Amino acid sequence: MHEIRVHNTLSGKVEPFVPLKAGVVHMYTCGPTVYDFAHIGNFRTFVFQDILRRFLRLRGFKLTHVMNLTDVDDRIIANAAAAGVGIREYTAKYVEAFYADCRTLSVESPEHWIRATDNIDEMVALIQKLQKKTYTYDSEGSIYYRISKFKDYGKLSKVDLSGIQAGARVDNDRYEKESARDFALWKAPKPGEHFWETPIGAGRPGWHIECSAMAMKYLGETIDIHTGGIDLAFPHHENEIAQSEAATGKPFVRFWMHAEHLLVEGEKMSKSLGNFFTLRDLFGKGYKPSALRFALASVPYRRQLNFTFDGLQQASSSVERLRNFAARLKNEKFPAGRQAGMSERIAKAASDFDAGLSDDLNTAQALAAVFDFVREANIAMDKGEFRKDEVKPAQEFLATFDKVFAVLEDNDAEKLQALGYDTGSDQASDAEIEKLVAARQAARQRRDFAESDRVRKELAERGILLEDTKDGSVRWKRK
Ligand SMILES: [Zn+2]
Repeated sequence: MHEIRVHNTLSGKVEPFVPLKAGVVHMYTCGPTVYDFAHIGNFRTFVFQDILRRFLRLRGFKLTHVMNLTDVDDRIIANAAAAGVGIREYTAKYVEAFYADCRTLSVESPEHWIRATDNIDEMVALIQKLQKKTYTYDSEGSIYYRISKFKDYGKLSKVDLSGIQAGARVDNDRYEKESARDFALWKAPKPGEHFWETPIGAGRPGWHIECSAMAMKYLGETIDIHTGGIDLAFPHHENEIAQSEAATGKPFVRFWMHAEHLLVEGEKMSKSLGNFFTLRDLFGKGYKPSALRFALASVPYRRQLNFTFDGLQQASSSVERLRNFAARLKNEKFPAGRQAGMSERIAKAASDFDAGLSDDLNTAQALAAVFDFVREANIAMDKGEFRKDEVKPAQEFLATFDKVFAVLEDNDAEKLQALGYDTGSDQASDAEIEKLVAARQAARQRRDFAESDRVRKELAERGILLEDTKDGSVRWKRK
């Protein structure tokens, strides 16, 4: 096992990762703002943090991981008011869609899913703490954070504060680096919009205080890892640090990990360019969840990911190659004994896989270790050199791979059906196909060629190709 090293945005360096408390990792992920369906750019980040949490668990860490749903936000409040419904009612559809999307992409549930609307008291208490320490001031019913009082302001995003006018304020939750200003912790109610009556006045929390309050409530004042998309580093995460560290006097986060942007066919994704995709847009075009997960996971998280339809097609082939290899291991008959050098080859693949992920979650390197091994093992199988005693270690290696990448199980059709897509009855599961293949073998053995032909035809209609091998076993694959 290799030393785990991760890139920390705070230091700008790749550092050895060691949690504060041995064996336990406290991790926070900024979740989606639930006013719309999440898009593939969002899911690039969510798949990254899923790979991270799965890898840490594989390496034996116990995780306490929190992901929030931002359900108090300028746009949500405004949209809910315009629709004449409450926040929970307005966001319900998008919350359910997000959970379903995560299940479809095999993004594991964190230990805690939390919502801003359930944690208003903690946000108010944190603002009161900042008031006592005089990091705040009031203006027109809102409460602002005075960034000039926090001497470390800018340490995460390295924002340039020269030329910032003291006391200049910003009310929007999202703004550009050029406009680093005192930001709203608590916002005065607007006519017709939802607000809470609290000891600090009527109003609603700003976005940044939500994450500080919830992260510290569930994970303590100093947490090990905080993840998010790179676009959150400023102002959101910078402001989280300012709020949390001013209140506690302790470091808020030890390792900040940010995923780079996703481009579509080389361009920034935007609705106006017509290259904006939710998961459902892609599933509607017939792409599989496993292919999308693989495509999003295969580019290391700190590299910009250029999403293309060719790439998605290649990801689909890669997943098929792995599934076919797993099926060969399971179904073919190999000669007894060991193949010289093969167990060392499997051990090397496992070690290279771990080395890749340990190196700042280099998924490309980890996948190369897997595919190099699969190619060599397939060749050994074709030559009849692969032996029975290597089956179990090879399967164990694939299982290790899949604990992190989670694409081997052939359940795309079920997942799409769960989302309401009609995938057609011709999309057979592995188990169904194997049953048919076995039925055909049995028919041939009893020389019932009419029946064996019939089953072969049925399989062909369902897109399954059969290949009879020299040893008398049958290999199958999807067209
Ligand atoms: Zn956040």
